[in-house]
This record gives sequence, structure tokens and C-alpha cells, in this order.
Amino acid sequence: MASRRIGLGIPKPRTTDRAASLPDTSDRPATPALADRYGRSATDLRLSLTDFCNLRCTYCMPAEGLTFLQREQMLSAEEVVRLVRIGVKHLGIEQVRFTGGEPLTRPDLEEIIAGVAALSRRPDISLTTNAIGLDRRAEALRTAGLDRINVSLDSVVPETFATLTRRPMLHRVLAGIDGARAAGLDPIKVNAVLLPGLNEHELPDLLEWCLQRSLQLRVIEQMPLDADHLWDRDAMVSADDVHALLAPRFALEPVAEARDGAPAELFEVTDRASGLHRGRVGIIASVTRPFCGDCRRTRLTAEGRVRTCLFSREETDLRGALREGAADEEIAEIWRAAQWGKKAGHGMDREDFVPPERPMSAIGG
Ligand code: SAM
Ligand code: SF4
Repeated sequence: MASRRIGLGIPKPRTTDRAASLPDTSDRPATPALADRYGRSATDLRLSLTDFCNLRCTYCMPAEGLTFLQREQMLSAEEVVRLVRIGVKHLGIEQVRFTGGEPLTRPDLEEIIAGVAALSRRPDISLTTNAIGLDRRAEALRTAGLDRINVSLDSVVPETFATLTRRPMLHRVLAGIDGARAAGLDPIKVNAVLLPGLNEHELPDLLEWCLQRSLQLRVIEQMPLDADHLWDRDAMVSADDVHALLAPRFALEPVAEARDGAPAELFEVTDRASGLHRGRVGIIASVTRPFCGDCRRTRLTAEGRVRTCLFSREETDLRGALREGAADEEIAEIWRAAQWGKKAGHGMDREDFVPPERPMSAIGG
């Protein structure tokens, strides 16, 4: 079966007809690391476990018309654990974040996390999720070895949430967050994307809601990764807009610690009315203040293709080699070659910028 409707074309991967089709790496130094030509080394793996989701956030997926990868097209739990092991043992991966699509729609998520947690050099294990169903699974996920979670929540107003996600499921997300807290997952970060005229005006209330629950809000600038290709740079809510929206109620001061390559710029939050310090907020300004020069990421799609950037237009297949019986070091070498070709930046500011064919849900945010 074709994996997707027309219009959501997935780029053809570089085949792993090994060596023959790999990019030129003759200028690559002999390092085991996932290095690239711009002096960066990837230590942070984002691994998408599925392209399926039970929400339809407007900035990510279309309302309808998607068909999803079939089970055999996706990496199995065993294959995921093997690739993470190769990443950790051969390539210097230190952190793994599982994402999607919605990773909680994988019934074997606990098995995957337990497998990764059992690796001899155990990476930090985190999850980005919409939290639907997390109330029933948080305890088991924590027991399996999950260290941290980010929950995506753009509004705590049921009507806004339903408009934004095209599903009236706010109560289920809130139950999921409660379940995560009860299971002792800490910290819990909340990711929010602001859409002009939809939820941007709710930002001060959303921050207040998070501060009251000791949740760390991260506001993410919307990127051109929506399936409907409606992103408009001039209309998007920028980091500057976020500061302006919060300013009447909260004073924001940059945190003292160095950012150290993290995507979020962190700010201490003080309540203007009371003068009390309330916590922190993060702003991820991928569009207006790109941090590509410090990027430490490598990505794997649910079907086992390396993407060196969210905005890559090329992918390198590892699943084929995996299923053809390639040795770990051979797979590591394909991955290294792919990463060597990582571009200097996402290029959103260039006149000739073309967004990737995959929507965010099929890449793994
Ligand atoms: N379903 C899970 C979730 O929503 O957390 C994981 C996958 S989702 C693609 C990962 C993150 O990407 C979410 O925090 C979501 O808000 C973010 N995201 C999706 N589309 C985006 C876009 N066009 N621009 C910026 N962030 C986006
Ligand atoms: Fe699903 Fe996450 Fe995309 Fe929303 S952002 S549609 S929850 S994958």
C-alpha cells in the first residue's frame, strides 16, 4: 500500500545500496562521532515512533486525507532499540527523545523505553507527547525508564483546544498531565505553539496556569511544517510578540546560566502585580533566532530514515541495511555519512527556501 495520500509525498531516501549511493565523505575526518562539515557533532537523537496521531493540530496535520505507515513499514521495538544502541555505542549519542506522530499510540512504547534504558551506556530518555492516554501509562513508562516528558498543550480553553487540534479532547490531555505528575515524572514541560487570532491572546493565562502547577512552559515559534502549507512568516507569532504579549502581566529576565546549545531561551518570570518570582518560561525562536550553529541533533523517522535536520530534503535509509543483516558498524557508517552532509542551517531566510515534503507529524518534532 502507498504510505500516504498524494500531496504528502515522502522524499525518496538515498538507497543504502551501501557504499555505492552514500554521499561523498572523502573530506570527513576519521572520527566515530556523528560529525558534520560545520564542526558540529550530534549527541541528541530525535526518534519518531509513528506518523499516526489521534489529534489533528492545524499547524502539523491536515484535517483528513492521510493514510499512515503500515506496521511492517515502521521500525519494530527491537529495531528501534538496536538503532539506539548503535547510536549510543558507536556514534556518541547521549540523549534520545521519542516523538511522532503520537508516540503513545505505540502499544510497545514501554518495551522500547525499557530496552533503551537497559543499554550499557544508558542515554537520557525523554518523550514528546500530546498526553492522551498518559494517565493510564505514566507509571509503567516511568518504571520502564522514562526520565522526562514534554506535553504539547496550546490552550487550556476547551473550545480553543478543540479548534486548534480539531478534536474536543482537552480533558484527556489534562488527565494525562495529572497522571504524569502522580507518577513522579519531573520536570514536565509544556510545549505551546501560538497561532495568530486563535490562541495568542490566551498566552498570559496559559503561562499562569503552568506556573500554578510547576509546569515549565515552552513557547515554540510556528515553523513551515504544516501539511496544509498555510504557514505565513508575516503572520506568525514571533518571539518578540511573545515578549509583548506577556509584558503587561509578567516581567521576563534572561536566566543566569549559559544556554549551552539548548533550543529554548529561558527567562525568569516575575509577576508584575505582586512582585513575586513565579518560575521560568522558555521561548524557542527557531524562525526568528535560529540556533542551527549549535545544533546537536540527528533524527530518525518512524520507517528508519536519517534526517539531519527538521528541514532536510534528503533522507538516508537505515531500515534496509538493518533488515538485510548489516553489521552494527556498517549501519553506523551509513549514519555517519548521512550526518556529514548536514547543511549549515535550515535556510528559512533564503529566497529559495522550500519547506520539506513531510509534515511535522511524519518527521517527528
Ligand atoms: N504528538 C506529539 C506532540 O504533539 O507532542 C509529538 C509529535 S509533535 C510533531 C512534536 C512537537 O512539534 C509538538 O510540541 C508540536 O507542538 C510541535 N510542532 C508540530 N508542528 C509544528 C510546527 N509547524 N511548528 C512548530 N512546532 C510544531
Ligand atoms: Fe499530533 Fe503532535 Fe502533530 Fe498535534 S503536534 S497533530 S498532537 S503529532
